[in-house]
Amino acid sequence: MATPELRIYESLSQSLKPFQPLVEGHVGMYVCGPTVYSDVHLGNVRTFLSFDMVFRYLSFIGYKVRYVRNITDAGHLVDDVDHGEDKIAKKARLESLEPMEIVQRYTVGFHEVMKSFNALPPSIEPTATGHVIEQIALTEQLISNGFAYEVDGSVYFDVTAYEKIHNYGELSGRKAEDMLEGSRNLAGQSDKRNPRDFALWKRAGKEHIMRWQSPWGEGFPGWHLECSVMSTKYLGETFDIHGGGMDLKFPHHECEIAQNKGSHGHAGAQFWMHANMLTLNGQRMSKSTGNTLLPEELLSGKSAHLTQPYSPSVTRFFIHQAHYRSVLDFSDEALNAAKKGHDRLMAAFESLSKRPTTGPKVGSFDTDAWSNKAHAVMAKDFNSPLLIAELFEAVKAIAADRKDPSVLGTDGAQSLMTQMSDWLFHVLGLMPPQQVNDRMKKALDGSMKLVISLRQTARETKDWATSDAIRDQLDAAGIIIKDGSEGSSYELK
Ligand code: AMP
Ligand code: ZN
Repeated sequence: MATPELRIYESLSQSLKPFQPLVEGHVGMYVCGPTVYSDVHLGNVRTFLSFDMVFRYLSFIGYKVRYVRNITDAGHLVDDVDHGEDKIAKKARLESLEPMEIVQRYTVGFHEVMKSFNALPPSIEPTATGHVIEQIALTEQLISNGFAYEVDGSVYFDVTAYEKIHNYGELSGRKAEDMLEGSRNLAGQSDKRNPRDFALWKRAGKEHIMRWQSPWGEGFPGWHLECSVMSTKYLGETFDIHGGGMDLKFPHHECEIAQNKGSHGHAGAQFWMHANMLTLNGQRMSKSTGNTLLPEELLSGKSAHLTQPYSPSVTRFFIHQAHYRSVLDFSDEALNAAKKGHDRLMAAFESLSKRPTTGPKVGSFDTDAWSNKAHAVMAKDFNSPLLIAELFEAVKAIAADRKDPSVLGTDGAQSLMTQMSDWLFHVLGLMPPQQVNDRMKKALDGSMKLVISLRQTARETKDWATSDAIRDQLDAAGIIIKDGSEGSSYELK
């Protein structure tokens, strides 16, 4: 069947717009990545999984997607404003480490978390520190276009000059007075001509370790600059989709749009997409307030918020059961309900592969009509909750078919199995039970390697009590250790 026309809710126009990529068959998508100064929490994970689902769906319907997601490793200041310490440098100072050790630690951690949730890696993952030259060039361009000015080694974007031509606030809908809220009485911004101006380049004080040479002396780039620079560099001045969490609309994306328009006249992306927040106890999950739950807490179940661990696949199911633009509240009960739904869906899918090949070829359940509905709901702004509702329609048909094989028929069952597999595993990114088994096998292999080496050490030191206890307890757990000339290995009983 022909895929229905994709429509996406676009934040600048606040409307559902038909999606037409700039280059036929190709999509350029930029998503703001993490600031790598601490572990990502489940709220961050929700946003990245929402865009993973978007990436997966676009690829599934045949687009060749260049997906760029950056790593913010410099320039993001504490409190998201234009003064104060760099978040990464602050963490480095507190831990007596190099800023790049902090960056490395949390970038690796972020990748591990995303992989554990079965998120596909982006096509390009550029860093702010890798693009300082380009950020300086964009700052120079904005100065020469009359939209920026230098004061004492810092360069600010000139909102007043910009507003003579463009509309600052068009994305967030904020009025000038609202933008001033919170920016008044802040120390260190007295060199701005207007409190709404924002930093493109900041002079580095003596204590600021992350610093680069520039035409204005030693300094560092403002937070918003990197995304303008890296999206343009890898996707062009105009590209298809720019994504991030709702909280980035202001100031981050508002400033990005101003920088883009100020340098080349276009907003950048044709579609600005924003994913909504994950809340905990009704409050936004946030690193700065400490109202967070970490992925490892969820996967181990070790948290006061939880009664049991939840798998990455159940977590993805929970996340995609809500529309990406709706607020989603995290709770143990909600996760528990998601687990039941997830397991029912997986069991029904599994049962299809074991279905006897009896009965008629064609059944009464119309798989084509079902497929059309599944495509239609996803084509309307990636409505994953409605897709999941359609998947449960299939579950009902599978249950009916178990009693009466004329419901699906052999061909219908085959077709449903292929299509469900596509939606469940390719688009929603859930993990097939086999993949979960593979992961468990890998974990068991790793831990058995450790146990075998501990037993080996005990044997070498003639600590027979320990080595026997290890063997006996493994035996009781159903694992046999085999000693051979090449070393020891294990087998399940
Ligand atoms: P950060 O590392 O703070 O820049 O955040 C990385 C991404 O996570 C951004 O797209 C944020 O919008 C998003 N984010 C932060 N908090 C939440 C939350 N509670 N729920 C969903 N997304 C969030
Ligand atoms: Zn960004």
